[in-house]
Amino acid sequence: MTQQDEYQQKSRVLSRQTLALIHKLGVSASPVNFSVFYAYLEKSNDGLVTAIDILHSNKRVFDDVQCHELYQCYVQQPREQEIIETLSAEWRDQVVQIFDQFAKDHQHHHLADLEKALQAVLGIPDHHADVDVNLEDRLDETSSEVSRLRDDLEKMKREALTDGLTGIANRKAFDEKLRDAAMTTMENGQELSLILVDIDFFKRLNDRFGHQAGDQIIRLMAKTLQQSVKGRDTTARYGGEEFAIILPATKLEDAQRLAENIRRTVETLDVVSENRSEAMGTITVSIGVACFQLGEPLARMIERADQALYLAKSHGRNLIMTENDLLVRPVESAAKA
Ligand code: GH3
Ligand code: MG
Ligand code: MG
Repeated sequence: MTQQDEYQQKSRVLSRQTLALIHKLGVSASPVNFSVFYAYLEKSNDGLVTAIDILHSNKRVFDDVQCHELYQCYVQQPREQEIIETLSAEWRDQVVQIFDQFAKDHQHHHLADLEKALQAVLGIPDHHADVDVNLEDRLDETSSEVSRLRDDLEKMKREALTDGLTGIANRKAFDEKLRDAAMTTMENGQELSLILVDIDFFKRLNDRFGHQAGDQIIRLMAKTLQQSVKGRDTTARYGGEEFAIILPATKLEDAQRLAENIRRTVETLDVVSENRSEAMGTITVSIGVACFQLGEPLARMIERADQALYLAKSHGRNLIMTENDLLVRPVESAAKA
């Protein structure tokens, strides 16, 4: 068997297995779902395999929304990364061409202008070469090509960091911002707090008013959170109906106060579904708050915020708990036992 045959055989088997799995899970056989579970069975994507295994072991029922999230998070992103890399390579090729031409035509004038233009576009310092008028024309062309590529590249980068539904930062952007914020905190010693917000009984809202209304609530929530914070803070869509807010230079108590504001604002929102013009009643959120301890792994702070959020859920929802409550509550319950 040639390598090509082998490859085809393997992908036929995988395709069949993928369809069987999709059928078993009861999700629709859409291209998105297909590519998610194909990649899963192929084990070509470690993050995806881990995510699905965790969801499976938590007995999570897979639905199209969930699959779409997995797709966005693990399948689509790497491809965007690839495109970014290809664009970068193309862009570099253009630069090399320009410099080659410089080297060939060893003539005079406009050097300063060219250098300035190149430096502006590429950020490449001092290069000594001269050009003639023809080259200048070509360069005009090339540099507009280069700047188009640069614009594309920036747009792709922006898109790769933005959540499609809400337009706020996505999980990837969140990870980056949190890392940056932690570094800054280590340098300046100011406190860094983290808020996790989860919509209460969202599944019920979805079931009752439909997915479109659910999406509308998610968008509204993103807007509400963003309007509640300052410019230096980052609001991100952390998961399906979960949001995170990174608060640099903010003490735990101040983050808690902000969380309380958010909780109250959300509670008083009057939400009417766009598609059915139906009042959706009071929507509430539960919130967990944690504060970074210098030097700890970021995952530990996220874990505390998550546990605090869980505590808020288990104490009845529409509540805020902080990491301090984690220290107190187990003792209380132990005293009761
Ligand atoms: P809890 O108060 O414990 O948080 O209950 P819940 O129902 O909000 O929690 P759960 O995590 O069980 O349900 C979240 C649901 O959110 C599951 C999923 O169907 C839905 N969901 C996730 N992402 C989206 C989305 O982008 N759009 C819509 N419409 N629904 C989504
Ligand atoms: Mg949730
Ligand atoms: Mg929820």
